[in-house]
Amino acid sequence: MIARVAFISMHTSPLRNPGEGDAGGMNVYLHELSTTMAAQNVSVDVFTRRDHLRLPETVTVAPGYRVHHLQAGPPCALPIEWQAPHLEEFSQALLERLEAGTALPDLVHSHYWLSGWAALEVKERVGIPMANSFHTLGRVKDATRRADQSPTHPMRIATEETLISSADCVVASTPFEADDLMDHYGADPTKLCISPPGVNRTNFKPGDQAAARRRLGLGAGPLAVFVGRIQALKGPDVALAAVKAARERIPDLRLLVVGGPSGPEGKREMEALRAAAAGLGQGAVRFYSPVPHDRLGDFYRAADVLVAPSRSESFGLAVAEAQACGLPVVAARRGGLMYVVEDGGSGWLVDGWEPEGYALAITKVLEDEELRAGMSARGVEWALQYSWQATSERLLELYRSVLFHQ
Ligand code: UDP
Repeated sequence: MIARVAFISMHTSPLRNPGEGDAGGMNVYLHELSTTMAAQNVSVDVFTRRDHLRLPETVTVAPGYRVHHLQAGPPCALPIEWQAPHLEEFSQALLERLEAGTALPDLVHSHYWLSGWAALEVKERVGIPMANSFHTLGRVKDATRRADQSPTHPMRIATEETLISSADCVVASTPFEADDLMDHYGADPTKLCISPPGVNRTNFKPGDQAAARRRLGLGAGPLAVFVGRIQALKGPDVALAAVKAARERIPDLRLLVVGGPSGPEGKREMEALRAAAAGLGQGAVRFYSPVPHDRLGDFYRAADVLVAPSRSESFGLAVAEAQACGLPVVAARRGGLMYVVEDGGSGWLVDGWEPEGYALAITKVLEDEELRAGMSARGVEWALQYSWQATSERLLELYRSVLFHQ
């Protein structure tokens, strides 16, 4: 029986709005999972770094779901790449807070390598078992990073290796991530568990396209959308170049880009994207600052196709959400996207990152109404397999088996 779980998310809080900076799928994951587990009568405490002076020590988000802000480094926003020097302080604050609580958690589940480092300290010093989810892996990112991007810092790779061999369990989102853990890090398969994330069907469900367009002030005509943080890893440059190429056959095709800059080169990436967009002509590309998560569904419902040419992706929540709204997707044949998309069913997977391949797939989807309707219906069906309730139940089962083997 699991009564209490601690989630560690040092670098970003589940209370942050996703879509820019270091807030994305992991924030959504933590918030949805905590909400769902707490509703199943598991007490969930999330520990994150205090990134604002005026944040209270603890926020009760819902009965049984609390977010704790720990002092580690200056109480202001810090980019992810500046957080490693504050790990010691964060782990110390975490240990103190856990020991001061009414009861220790049954298990600590950490998210991303930084938090894994802190959770391992807890495991070694207090003896609480730990599971870790990486969400992204340095070596996997490096395998397909764009040529102008810097390689992952060796400290991250070394910590990932330590965590993979020392955690009681490593949670992968898909069988492809499990393969990556074994191929790139030699992970012990008996320590791996696969648990895909879910989709919130209150926010992401099919709906009337014309009504969604009216609400967003978008007119008629073929429409592609890109949803994600603006950084080379997510491939917004490829999405834009693909739409440019597809406009040779479909001249009135437009692209919506939803999301803000992320990472050290995010601003530069955004500027390059805006410059490339200007080359497509007035009104061809519209940029949106991050859209609140519960209002994003209208973008998926308004569009005709989602373009997701990520260079690396452990799952791809935006792609799952789009399908749940009945939006066909054109995505990279890479990582979790190969699991999230039913190739030829809910969308198309494209090899590599040459824009022409994506342009061809976009054109196919847009020019064939019957195909598009079929993909839309199949996407809704396909996305039904992703549910936070199922994610939560699977993880609780995993936690029980970890405790059983202690
Ligand atoms: N998102 C959002 N508003 C935006 C852009 C993105 O709410 O303007 C959310 C999106 O709905 C998804 C998450 O951010 O749930 C991105 O997750 P994904 O797995 O696609 O990418 P990641 O950020 O993990 O790389």
